[in-house]
Amino acid sequence: MIMMDWLAKAMGLPDHFLSTSENGGGVIHTTACESTLFTLFVARDHLRLKSDTGSQNGHSTVSSSAINVSSMVAYGSKLAHSGVEKACLMGAVQYHPVGYDDNYSMRGHLLEKEIEADIEKGLTPFFVVATLGTIHCCSFDNLKELGEVCEKWGLWLHVDAAYAGSAFICPETRHLLAGIELVQSFNFNPHKWLQVQFDCSALWIKDRQKLDTVLHLDPIYLQHSKQDEIVDFRHWQIPLGRRFRSLKLWFVLRSFGVTGLQKWIRGTMDLAEYFADLITKSEHFELFRPRSMGLVCFRAKGSNDQNRALLKSLNEGREIHLIPAEIDDTYFLRLAICSTQTTQKDLDDVLNLMLRHLQKL
Ligand SMILES: *Cc1c(COP(=O)(O)O)cnc(C)c1O
Repeated sequence: MIMMDWLAKAMGLPDHFLSTSENGGGVIHTTACESTLFTLFVARDHLRLKSDTGSQNGHSTVSSSAINVSSMVAYGSKLAHSGVEKACLMGAVQYHPVGYDDNYSMRGHLLEKEIEADIEKGLTPFFVVATLGTIHCCSFDNLKELGEVCEKWGLWLHVDAAYAGSAFICPETRHLLAGIELVQSFNFNPHKWLQVQFDCSALWIKDRQKLDTVLHLDPIYLQHSKQDEIVDFRHWQIPLGRRFRSLKLWFVLRSFGVTGLQKWIRGTMDLAEYFADLITKSEHFELFRPRSMGLVCFRAKGSNDQNRALLKSLNEGREIHLIPAEIDDTYFLRLAICSTQTTQKDLDDVLNLMLRHLQKL
């Protein structure tokens, strides 16, 4: 609890996520996918319990809820991670991907249009995932607009900031957090870009009382004498047992300090900018969009097929491994800087290597 509070404060998250607040708190999960799945379950069952029509022996059960799971709808950007759709498959709810604007950002009016159409059809919208830092190109959904729409329609808003969340340790990036006060849950992976070893995925919840009403089972073998005095993290996650992951956070925070981590994040962004510059200046390559955080999206000037062939050749050469993405029929390559070992010279080498492979095609 102390580590999650330290981390929340270091990232400028609102006080209502702190364990010392009235209703909030954080928990360390394994992965972003697990956090999305878990919060979707909580949002789903919370809504179904609220609408509960029948109660048996004084116990409310979600099985007697007035709302059918199959009529419930969750939303995310078309650029949201596949883990969102997977969570919907596992939760047996519908998933409706939402479009994005010219900046690859999911906007409030685009979401609201989908919500209204679904309500018209008799469906029950309940859950929205906003992505801060999409996997394709590290674009940012408009949290403030989405938050206002979710508040208006009573939907749970979850943030997936798996990769880019680490950047919020630097205050100059926090304009992207505007609207955070409207969010029900916020997740990012210190194991991606904050020097913590896999696995360590931080999830904060605004209203922990919702965890006490759903997915809350108390069999005799788990009961203890401090039941209502301490936080039982088994209600905050899928597994029962937990690893001591906070120790990894403690070591990283104590070793680097907040200023050390800020320096690290800014350093990787500077290196990414250096690489983006090399791309812009090269006559054979172009940026797909400007650098975002530590990610550079670029392509060889030419067709998608030429870029596919280039990637295949590069990855088969085994000196570098890149992962592609495709948006609106444009195929591009992605280079992210996450290693403490990367230098400007490595990036010069990457460009030369790519030119060599390009000439051989
Ligand atoms: C990496 C990533 C994920 C998946 O992360 P896991 O922790 O492996 O589940 C989800 N969403 C985004 C935006 C990501 O960048």
